[in-house]
This record gives sequence, structure tokens and C-alpha cells, in this order.
Amino acid sequence: SIDFKFLKDNINLVVQNAKNRNSSADPQLALQLYDQYIQLKQEADQLRAERNENSNAMKGKLEAEARQALIQRGQELKDKIASLEEKLATAEMLLQREGQRIPNMTHPEVPLGGEDVATVLNNVGSPREFEFEARDHVTIAESLDLVDFESAAEVSGQKFYYLRNAAALLELALVNWAMTKVVARGFTPIMTPDLVKETVLEKCGFQPRGTNTQVYSVENSNLCLTGTAEIPLGGLYMDKLLNETQLPIKMAAFGHCFRTEAGAAGAASKGLYRVHQFSKVEMFVISTPDQSDALHQELINLETEMFTELGLHFKVLDMPSGDLGAPAYRKFDVEAWMPGLKRYGEISSASNCTDYQSRRLNIRYRPSSKETPSAEDSGKTKGGKSSGGGKTEFVHTLNATACAVPRMIVSILENFQQADGSVVIPEVLRPFMGGMSLILPP
Ligand code: AMP
Repeated sequence: SIDFKFLKDNINLVVQNAKNRNSSADPQLALQLYDQYIQLKQEADQLRAERNENSNAMKGKLEAEARQALIQRGQELKDKIASLEEKLATAEMLLQREGQRIPNMTHPEVPLGGEDVATVLNNVGSPREFEFEARDHVTIAESLDLVDFESAAEVSGQKFYYLRNAAALLELALVNWAMTKVVARGFTPIMTPDLVKETVLEKCGFQPRGTNTQVYSVENSNLCLTGTAEIPLGGLYMDKLLNETQLPIKMAAFGHCFRTEAGAAGAASKGLYRVHQFSKVEMFVISTPDQSDALHQELINLETEMFTELGLHFKVLDMPSGDLGAPAYRKFDVEAWMPGLKRYGEISSASNCTDYQSRRLNIRYRPSSKETPSAEDSGKTKGGKSSGGGKTEFVHTLNATACAVPRMIVSILENFQQADGSVVIPEVLRPFMGGMSLILPP
């Protein structure tokens, strides 16, 4: 499923790209394995052709001696082919394993380097000026009886939480508001499974194993807990062949996210900022290659509109190459000002993964033929049959956060706190909270 032809034709580019992205992949090794694989495949093909010739030669009238020679040759070829096929299978396995580690290519405008070289694409609003000392969300939430970390620590462990009272309603309001917003923009609302097969997770570009894995696995099963609804949404179209006329497909899912947060530590681990389980509304788009850049822009525009509606001050960043991970071709993060934490914190992330996931998930589309643009409008195509002929191509996939609940709650509590300890609820959320406009101390 990897484009090894592209790797061979662009080896220097792919090596440089892996370096730029801090990837541990070894494209040179992948290329060596590819060359070995092609050579073995050619040898096998040649032996099979010989074997065909040999069995054809046996069809005519033959002297007993000549027939015996052909039979013997046939047996030799059969044995050789069998041993070569074994080698071929091993070579292919090694090739795929190395190939899977190669990261996506990178959009030409992506800044090269680490986190500190992100380009600021947009800066909305300005930090609120406080006439009192701004408190952090933990202090606010505890004084308003909105969270219970102690009980969560007893029941589940560190970095879990109970939301109580207005905070419980706030989570539901945020989810409903976000879903309503994106559905009005043509996204199909979906509820997804929170457990997925390890194979699907891998095909989406996540690592289920290793010491630093972010993924919780379910013992004695092939299932993992989802880190994001992106995984079941991508999996929804696995092995499907779509018509160009069906694209783009826009979906929005509510899902629970489970993350080990292995390797994460420090002050940011306190409170709701970095937790093991949270609710999220996630957008996922399947498009043609031509559409994906514009759709990426559309996703970040929608996020910008939503965070502006909430009244937050935030920056939109074009994330640098070193911060893209393997699947993203380009990634726009939004960082909101959090006055209690006294810093900007990531609240959303929108990625164009081009064909990285679709190659692994095997999601293709059939381009409409140029001569008869509407000829393939009707019916679904599944499988290899072609109505209009022509080659199939891999789709592009994109994903973007509509609303990651805990960081929304952090932002709301810290930005809209009042001197008297109360918190003002953003106007757009009030209809989803029975009209509640203020969270008052108990
Ligand atoms: P990601 O799927 O990693 O791009 O994350 C999407 C969004 O979820 C981020 O922008 C954060 O707002 C939020 N998020 C990620 N990890 C956590 C976590 N451990 N706890 C709370 N929110 C998180």
C-alpha cells in the first residue's frame, strides 16, 4: 500500500523529509528492501514462465526419454519456485514493515524545525485584562464544586476526574453546541465505537505498542481504546471504493478519547488540562486529492469561527515539520490563552493526512470520466467492477477537533471568571444549559 515507486524515484527527497520530521524511519533501507523484493519477484516470474513452457512442451507426442527429462525439469522448477516464494513472502513482510514507518511528505509551506518555529497564521482577540488576580481552573472548579479529583483518584487513578453540577451540564452543552454547529455546515453526525481493532488503529497511523505508546490495549482481545474518533471514522470507509461524485464526505463524531499520556509530566498534568479520558467532537473528511488543501482551510475556518463565538483569545499555528508526527502532510493547531495557567494551551488540531491513511486503510475512489462527467452518478460501487472504466485512486483524509471538552472547560473557567468567584457562561452555550448564564458559588 506504500508508494514504493515514488520512494525509488524520489529517494533523496524522502530521506530529507524524514529528517525534517524527526522520523526514525530509514527510507534507504526501505529502498534496499524494495530492490531485493523486485529482484526476487522477477526471478519468480521467470521461473513460473519457464514452468509453463515446460508443461506446454509435455502436451505434444514425446519419446519416453524426452518426457522423463521434462518431468524432472518440471519437478526442479516446482521446488525452486516454492523456495523462492518463501523468500519473496519474507522480503515483502520486511519491506512493508520498513515502508510503514516512512512519514507522509510535507506541504511546501510548512516551517522546517521544532515547535518554536511554528508560523502564526491568525491571532484572534487579545488576552483579557483582569482587575483582580486570575485564578487557575483547578482553584475555580473546586471552589464552585465543579470537579472531584480526589474521588476520581480513588476510583480510577491520577488524571481522572468527576465533573459535577454546572460542569457536567457544561460538558453536554459543549458537545451539543459543537455538534449542532458542524451539522449545520453539512457534516453528518455520527456516534462511534470507543473500542477499535488494533489493526485499524495501526492503519490510521497510531502505534498500539512500545514503551511510549499513547494507546490503552484491552487484555485478551485484539481491541484498543480509541485515542480519538478519527480512528473509527477512518475505519468506517476501510476497503471501500467510492465515486468521485460522493466526495467530499464530511462526518462529525462524538467519541471518548483514552490516552496513556506516557512521557507527559510537569505542571500541565494538574487538573483538567491533560487527562486520561475525555469527550471530543471530531470532524473527519474524505476527499479527492484536488480538494484536500481547500478543505483543510475550511476546517480551520470553522474552528476559528467556533472559538471566536465562545469568546476566546487564540492563535492559529502552521505547525513545523518536527511536530507533525507521521500521518499529517500539514497541521494547523489552535492555542488559546489560559489566564490562570498564564500561557497559551493547545485546544484543537486540524490535519490534512493526504493519502497516508487511505493507502493503509485502502480507501479509493473512481475519478469521474472527463467525457461523461455524470455517467457514474447512480448507485454505489463496491469491489473492482468498473462502470465507466478508468483507474481508481486513493482518497485524501483530513481530521480536525471541533470541541475537546476538558480544555474548553479550562478556557471557559479561566477566561470568564469574575471577581466574586462566579463564572459567566458563553452566550452560545446557554440554550444548551437550560438558559443558565452564570455559575455561582454553592
Ligand atoms: P489530538 O487528537 O492529539 O490532535 O488532540 C485533539 C485535542 O484534544 C487537542 O487539541 C487538545 O485540545 C485535546 N487533548 C489532547 N490530549 C488531551 C488530554 N490528554 N487531555 C485533555 N485534552 C486533550
